[in-house]
Amino acid sequence: MGLDRLKFLYREVILENANNPKNYGVLINHSHQTTVYNPNCGDKLNLFLNLDKDNHISKIKFNGEGCTISKASASLMTQTVKGKSKDEAIEIAKIFSQMAIKQPLSRKQLEKLGDSQIMTNVMQFPARIKCATLAWWALERILLGEDGEKETDRRYC
Ligand code: ZN
Repeated sequence: MGLDRLKFLYREVILENANNPKNYGVLINHSHQTTVYNPNCGDKLNLFLNLDKDNHISKIKFNGEGCTISKASASLMTQTVKGKSKDEAIEIAKIFSQMAIKQPLSRKQLEKLGDSQIMTNVMQFPARIKCATLAWWALERILLGEDGEKETDRRYC
């Protein structure tokens, strides 16, 4: 596939997920909820999820106000981890963090990211990395038991 075609696909996926985000809304009966902010861009994200009795993510939803990148990344993240076990979702969030700091990833790791691997294109724009990582950071916080409100930490500065 040519570079122009890849860039076109990337734009299409980002715009589609930002304009028609999947799993957007409020999850009233949730087991976990967190709100995170990216002050650099003004993104605000509420993430709700439900872990079933086998510790799998049975339901996940997000809402908030954010830029195209943050919304698209949240939409892709929810699609990537829905149905996954808690441990697997934490593992995938860590792989995404690795991608954000441009560590090389194995083919197997990339496969685990699913469609979210398209966000690798964002990582060449340092100002937008926090937009792309916000939803994944929220997910990690929730699954590691750090609920509540918080601004992004300094890992991605
Ligand atoms: Zn943003």
